[in-house]
Amino acid sequence: MIVLKFGGTSVTDAAAIRRAAAIVESRRSRAPIVVVSALGGATNILLEVAAQSAGGQLLLALRSVEALRERHLAEAEALLGGTREAHDVVSEMGAMFDELASLAGALSVLGDLTPRSQDAIAAIGEMLSSLLAAAAFRAAGLPAVHVDARQVMITDDHFMKAEPDVDAIAEAAHRILGPIVRNGEIPVLGGFIGTAKSSGITTTLGRGGGDYSASLFGAALHTEAIEVWTDVDGMLTADPRVVKNARLIERVAFDEASELASFGAKVLHPSTIAPAVRLGIPVYVLNSRNPASAGTMITFDAPRRPVTAIAGKSNVSLVKVRSPKMLLAEGFLHRLFKVFEDHKTSVDVVATSEVSVSLTVDDPTHLDAIIVDLRALGDVAIERNRGIVAIVGTGISDGGASMSRALQALGNVRVYMLSLSATGINLTVVVDDEQVKPLMQRLHAEFFERERA
Ligand code: ADP
Ligand code: ASP
Ligand code: MG
Repeated sequence: MIVLKFGGTSVTDAAAIRRAAAIVESRRSRAPIVVVSALGGATNILLEVAAQSAGGQLLLALRSVEALRERHLAEAEALLGGTREAHDVVSEMGAMFDELASLAGALSVLGDLTPRSQDAIAAIGEMLSSLLAAAAFRAAGLPAVHVDARQVMITDDHFMKAEPDVDAIAEAAHRILGPIVRNGEIPVLGGFIGTAKSSGITTTLGRGGGDYSASLFGAALHTEAIEVWTDVDGMLTADPRVVKNARLIERVAFDEASELASFGAKVLHPSTIAPAVRLGIPVYVLNSRNPASAGTMITFDAPRRPVTAIAGKSNVSLVKVRSPKMLLAEGFLHRLFKVFEDHKTSVDVVATSEVSVSLTVDDPTHLDAIIVDLRALGDVAIERNRGIVAIVGTGISDGGASMSRALQALGNVRVYMLSLSATGINLTVVVDDEQVKPLMQRLHAEFFERERA
């Protein structure tokens, strides 16, 4: 068995879905399970619809719903023509759009947008795309069977960032997907969406979560590989939108790929690697527009290089807590991190001295409440417009030249925090937001674009 995951751009229209069908066909002998994202951009539109509806702009929201409906119907028409199948799919999609419009109406009456209702709306993107892709694959001659991913992806009820229940997913995957695959058929299901075990209500795994779904299903069924099909040739030495000379990394180790994903390489959701690593399932990143390219293979035993890649992310908040009480106080860090745990906010980078702690947070949703709780521990300062640049590779801490080259490339950029991961493979620098891109470009030029002396 193999999991094939197609991201938004890889199923964005009829032509993309046909390319995906050809890729599935080429993997047919390996018993594929297909996971799809919403059509490119659809999740953004759905979240906008939710916000507009709750914010008193129902007409605008309904106009977007109708445009999205037209788009899906046009692609269905292009893929399925006037077949019986087309009729069924179009009427099922029509019912989903009617449901979406009525959810928008209900939100505009309530005037309040909860994470739960955001998930109800966002999930429609994958419900639609998986239905359409399954029908299109059948039209292309593949024995595809649509499965509602919410029957398999069982989670907790932390809406918008639900935690998967690995045992329940394994049970459901064996019960629902196993027989389909054994029957020689191909299950097609949406990524990103799930169901809260406690209530049966729809959840999502957070933005970009389709990759995570794919690796969870792969781990549940112990597949031989997980292929993530996207719009670039694989994992590159930097984000190609920032660094135009970014190059393909043909092989990368799980730990490095995981650091890169966590520090801004959006090509993989940060949680994707963990389920695969547990079972040693190789993850491939491949280009659906260029399927002949080798892509990136992520495994345990990739070649080690001084520096593998540069990643970066913006809109990071830097939190500083100073406390004389911290001096020799046992349990201070425990109490500090407990605050973040209580607010379900993960901390990315940490640096401490005897009387102060600095840390960065990606998701500012609960920051105000966190500050209130942190004040019980000391003086708190927040700096919001910060960014992170990460230099990932084994040479960073091996005593060779990479560390000094990296530090030199910083030039006179103001650095707010600097941290070397315990594994020694990630040097992270916190800088002003607007410095992230130029610094990534400078570091990339230093490590990948100039002849080594
Ligand atoms: P999908 O819709 O297929 O999930 P995403 O937009 O989530 O695609 O991820 C692919 C994008 O990730 C690429 O288009 C690229 O701009 C961005 N990206 C960021 N960092 C990297 C990197 N190191 N290597 C490759 N792509 C990267
Ligand atoms: N459609 C979701 C998003 O745009 C999940 C994904 O594409 O992985 O965030
Ligand atoms: Mg993605």
